[in-house]
Formats: sequence, structure tokens, C-alpha cells
Amino acid sequence: MSLVHLLLFFGLVIAASSSPGSRLILREIADQKDRAVELNTSNFDSVLKDTPAKYAVVEFFAHWCPACRNYKPHYEKVARLFNGPDAIHPGIVLMTRVDCALKTNTKLCDKFSVSHYPMLFWGPPTKFVSATWEPKKDKSEILVIDDGRTAERLLNWINKQIDSSYALDGQKFENEHALSNLTDYNQISQAVYDVEEATAEAFDIILVQKAIKSSETSASFIRFIQLLAAHHLSRRCRKGAAEILVNYDDLCPSGNCSYEKSGGKDTLGNFPICGKDVPRGYYMFCRGSKNDTRGFSCGLWVLMHSLSVRVEDGESHFAFTAICDFVNNFFMCDECRLHFNDMCLSVKTPFKKARDFVLWVWSTHNKVNERLMKDEASLGTGDPKFPKIIWPPKELCPLCYLSSNQKSIEWDHDHVYNFLKNYYGSKLVSLYKEKSVIGSKEETVPATEDLTVATSALVVPIGAALAIAIASCAFGALACYWRTQQKNRKPRRSWN
Ligand code: FAD
Repeated sequence: MSLVHLLLFFGLVIAASSSPGSRLILREIADQKDRAVELNTSNFDSVLKDTPAKYAVVEFFAHWCPACRNYKPHYEKVARLFNGPDAIHPGIVLMTRVDCALKTNTKLCDKFSVSHYPMLFWGPPTKFVSATWEPKKDKSEILVIDDGRTAERLLNWINKQIDSSYALDGQKFENEHALSNLTDYNQISQAVYDVEEATAEAFDIILVQKAIKSSETSASFIRFIQLLAAHHLSRRCRKGAAEILVNYDDLCPSGNCSYEKSGGKDTLGNFPICGKDVPRGYYMFCRGSKNDTRGFSCGLWVLMHSLSVRVEDGESHFAFTAICDFVNNFFMCDECRLHFNDMCLSVKTPFKKARDFVLWVWSTHNKVNERLMKDEASLGTGDPKFPKIIWPPKELCPLCYLSSNQKSIEWDHDHVYNFLKNYYGSKLVSLYKEKSVIGSKEETVPATEDLTVATSALVVPIGAALAIAIASCAFGALACYWRTQQKNRKPRRSWN
């Protein structure tokens, strides 16, 4: 590092001297591996106020968002140019990031109307202090970076803004390789917890983001909740979904939902979809070997597969639409959403057979796997213990393979279908069935099906109970019944 850089770096640190918090943060740049400065509600204003940099980039992301993880090396590549002791151009652009998945940062992310992840803003640092940003505001010195998907594009965007010609240094990122344990057929039974966890986490994200914003998102939310009320593998999630449906017109009059979690009011936040004990804050089958891999997005896939194997022929197109719209409207991983939406749009003929829908979800997931295999290998962002593979591997389902070579696989679709039905059907729920047979205690094994039975003394609206029963028969009937219930609301009475 040259003397000039050293002086500039210390200048950066000294300039931050008015706030101990910001001083510490900027000094830490020297020690940490990541060069982008982590900001949060308490240090956001002070760091941006004190930095000597002329410009700032603020990345709003969520640690669970896979696309954000894959984007991080790109962002870091640019951050290395501007931040830290080895920076080639220090003191010009302060590169920062805010994790919107942390509850403490919710208000901060709301102030900037963060609508997707990752979302990048640009502006003079002081303009971010105590600032708000709205999409429709005409004149703002804070801009959304609309073309920063790769390190090259982000740097080009910055170069255009400040009429510079900075170049990337071409630093490489190492790959991690480790053996997979994806071939254990019995592991899937643990995913029952993860399906609940992902359902509750998805619902929480909708609450935190206040994501039901239009009649379209409202309709999409209702369709997905109908699907869950009818076919979620956990009875307590089915029950929670049915309760939301029955009360929806009160919770979201004319699509305007109230989201608060406190008070005795009827709000969406007061209807925990899988009961008050979920989310628990961890995954089991979907637990990654690193803190920031797998988890929520893995749980969502398992939820989608588990729903697909439970729908009847006549419901298959409804289920397809419900899942596509849900991902499109509520899965706040931008890249995932866009790719998935393309695959949804490529379906031109409505599904008539549940088998076709099950196989569509499976092959769509494999297309994502195939793409990520390449991305993760080159960026080193995957989980080393769970590398992406075309699934199921032969060890899990030898009969699924008619033939295979390095370039292609010829599948026996009948066997694949039977395998998926069993794997995401009976095998997935076998754990809590087994546990209930041997009489395990609820506290140690929260057996989803039985736990709900055990709480049958709960006071819930009669509408919800009936809705569950009807929902298991047909969506049309459920929707119709639910609407009727809104008009002829009955007093609450016990679940039984
Ligand atoms: P996952 O791919 O999450 O799979 C979870 C489990 O499902 C696996 O462990 C395996 O047991 C099983 N499985 C794997 N493949 C199949 C299959 N074909 N059929 C049935 N079961 C299978 N990330 C991106 O970076 N870019 C994207 O565009 C993107 N799009 C996504 C779209 C959706 C709708 C979702 C839910 C996620 C998306 N993700 C995307 C995230 C990504 O697919 C993974 O979920 C994430 O990388 C975690 O991977 P994982 O190793 O836990 O396995």
C-alpha cells in the first residue's frame, strides 16, 4: 500500500472522529474481510454524515436472499476499489450495505421504500442522513442504481455518474468443494419443520414489507392462502391459513391490510399463520453448513413440492397459478422472481393433471439448479456441503433414470412422479407420524399434525373449522364458502 493510500485511509478514519460509532465502523474496515461497510439503524446517519467520501452507494439486501448472496462478490469487487486499506481509489465512494431482514432495520428500509432485494441507491452521503426516498418523487439527489447487476455494470454506472474511468482489478474468488450428503433418503422427514418455518417466515416478510399493496397482490395472497388452507402438510398451518381467509375482509378491508402485531385489534399480524411458536428461527433439513446459505429458500422449495404432490387433478392449474403469483408478488429475491416468472409464463396450456403439475415444479427446480451449478461454481457462493445437483441423484432414485451421460439425462417420468409423490408425501410426514405412534412428548417433538389436535380446545371461529373441511375438498367451494362467511359472520365458538 502506498503512503498516499495510507494517509487517505487514515484521513477517512480521522474525519469520522465526531461519532465514536462511526469511527469504530470505519476503523474496522481495516480488519474485516468484507470491504462494504455494514450499516444499521443506529449507525446509518452518523457514518454517512462523517465520511469524507464524496459519494455513497447503499445496498439494501436481506441475508436470506440467495440472489443477494450471489451478488455480494460483485458488490465487494467494487467496494475493494473504494473502501479499506487496500483501496485503489479511497475517499471517493463509500460502499455500504443494510440488512433489511434484521427487524431492527425495518424502519430504515421502509424510509427508503425498499421494494426488492438487492436494491441499490446512490447519492452524496449527507443526502442520506435523516432522508426518505419515494419512487414517485421527481427531484431527489438520491438515485436508484438501475443497472448494477454485475461488478462491471455497477462500476460502469458509477463511472457515468462521476465522469470517471475506474476499472476493476480482476481479482478472483475461490471455489469451495465438499462432499454432498444429499443422498440420504430419510433426511427429508425433518423438513416438516422447515416447511412450517418457511411458511411462517414468508408470511412475516409479507407483514414486515406490508406487501399486500393492490387488488392484484390481495387476490394473489388470497389464492396462496387458499392453497395452504387446503393442502399444507401441517394441520396448524392449514388452520392458521383458514382463519386468515375467514377474517380477511376485516383484516384487509378493500385490500388495505393492517399489519401490526400488537394490541387486541383484528390485524394480519395477530394471525400467526402456523401458530405462535413458529417461526422458531432455525432450519433442520434446510440448515446450511454456512450461516448464510440454504434456509428459507430451501424451505420454500420443499413447501412448493409438498403442495404439488397433495393437489388433485382438478386443482392443479389453480395451484400452479397460486404458486406462480405468490413467487412473483411476494418472493423478494428479484432475480429468483424474474426467472421463475419466465418459467411460469412459458406454460401455455392449463394443467389438467396433478401429475403434470408435480413434474413441472420438479423440472423447474432442476432448471434453477442447473443455472446455479454454474454460477455457484464460478463465484464460490454455494454451500460447500450442498452443491447444486440435477435432482434426484441416482443414489436416491435409480429407477428414475432411463439413461444418463455427462451431457444429458433421460428420465423415466412415471418413476420420477412416483418417487416425488412418496418423497414429498408420506416420507416427508413420516417423522411426526412415527413420533406420535411412539408417544413422544410435544415439547421435545412438535408433532405438527398431533399438536393441532392436542390444541383442539382453542377457541377459533366456526368458519375456520368449516373452511378447513371444505378446503380439503375443493378450492371453488372454499372460496364460495369463505365469501358467504364474510357476509353472515357467526359468533365465535369452540373448535370442536
Ligand atoms: P434448494 O435448491 O433450495 O433445494 C432444496 C432441496 O430440495 C434440496 O436439498 C433437495 O433435497 C430438493 N431438490 C433439489 N432439486 C429438486 C428438484 N428438482 N425437485 C425436487 N426436489 C429437489 N437462487 C438464485 O441464486 N437464483 C435464482 O434465480 C433463484 N430462483 C429461485 C426461485 C424460487 C421459486 C426459489 C424458491 C428459490 C430460488 N433460488 C434462486 C434459490 C435456490 O434455488 C436455492 O433455494 C438456494 O440456493 C438454496 O439451495 P439449497 O442447496 O438449499 O437447495
